[in-house]
Amino acid sequence: MRGALLLASGLRPRARAGTRVLSAVARSEAVAPQNVLALDRAGLEDLLTSWGEPRYRAKQVHDWVYTKGQTEFALMTTLPKQLRERLEREATVGSMSVALEQCSRDGTRKRLWKLHDDHLIESVLMAYDDGRRTACISSQVGCAMGCTFCATGQMGYRRQLSAGEIFEQAAHLAAELRAKDERLSNVVFMGMGEPFRNFDAVVDAARRIIKQLGIGARHITISTVGLAPEIRRFADVCASESLELKLAISLHQSTDAARGAIMPVNRKYDLATLLDACEYYVKVTRRRISFEWALIAGENDSVDEARRLAKMLKPLRGKAHINVIPLNPTRGYEGLPSAQSARFVAELNLAGVPATVRTRRGIDIDAGCGQLADAASKERREAQREAAAVGGD
Ligand code: SAH
Ligand code: SF4
Repeated sequence: MRGALLLASGLRPRARAGTRVLSAVARSEAVAPQNVLALDRAGLEDLLTSWGEPRYRAKQVHDWVYTKGQTEFALMTTLPKQLRERLEREATVGSMSVALEQCSRDGTRKRLWKLHDDHLIESVLMAYDDGRRTACISSQVGCAMGCTFCATGQMGYRRQLSAGEIFEQAAHLAAELRAKDERLSNVVFMGMGEPFRNFDAVVDAARRIIKQLGIGARHITISTVGLAPEIRRFADVCASESLELKLAISLHQSTDAARGAIMPVNRKYDLATLLDACEYYVKVTRRRISFEWALIAGENDSVDEARRLAKMLKPLRGKAHINVIPLNPTRGYEGLPSAQSARFVAELNLAGVPATVRTRRGIDIDAGCGQLADAASKERREAQREAAAVGGD
């Protein structure tokens, strides 16, 4: 059955970016290749001038990488052959390779990255009719927060991503779009992992996305499960650096009992504590907060629920917006998507809380958080079991 997932769902393997890292490391432990995506423009200049190259070579390499989306030094044809060969030997563009890619009928592309230590993470690129191109990126391998409805939560926690690995997901997608004369316009931290459990790396990556990819902070959203102390810390960082990053909170239920049942984090930071932190954020940054609400049939889609939610958000006085998202069914959760989104949104609007239904992108490719990595890991486990069985024959 090996490769069944790939064939059955139209996934196509695509090589590269960073495969040389593995072979080079295997060859020699002494000199680790330099990942040029880990360097800013000044760092790239320092590297190339230390090799005796003129300063303008840094601009050329930078253009190849960031504007033309080229990940092969050998194909950077404006560079002299000797420099290309040295870069091939001593550098890489990125540290991860594309393990799988899946394209949806609506233009959504879901990508599975293989990291240098074989872990898998996902990014999703969503294309909208108004020209927006949004990258949804991961902040951790897996997640320890255990939300019952979430494929990443069901998978458990593996490790943190470095700021470089987080930035790279957006950088590769941005470069690929630029090569097609398109532009990455938005980034959302809504892939695998809990961004505020990897706070420093996430904020660092966001700063690099702003500076190196030219995406405004207002077009970058960090979504959290509701870690109250980190929401306060985020408010302080944003205020002190005048960083206008957007904040989204995954709410999904309006009573502690119901929220605690599907989101264990609520047992540590209950709704009152979470809302206090949200009020602090609004007070310190004067910015709005988006609340995510995955609509689950019969669980959180009633008119009463909408009224309770509106009442709960009253203290935020016009600074709250609710994004109603359809539940993406996952293997380990029996809840079903609700057909009541219009009624739910209307009730919220009636109660004075702005709310919109977010159309689900990539519905035919399971472009929900953690779902592709989950399917791929399952396939990998099956292949390993099969190999073991064959070996045992
Ligand atoms: N850990 C962060 C960000 C990643 S999850 C967080 O929880 O906010 C991104 C969003 O996807 C969150 O709002 C999360 O609740 C939502 N989500 C996870 N699984 C989902 C599913 N099966 N259906 C719909 N939304 C889901
Ligand atoms: Fe983690 Fe977010 Fe999934 Fe919850 S919804 S398990 S916090 S990734």
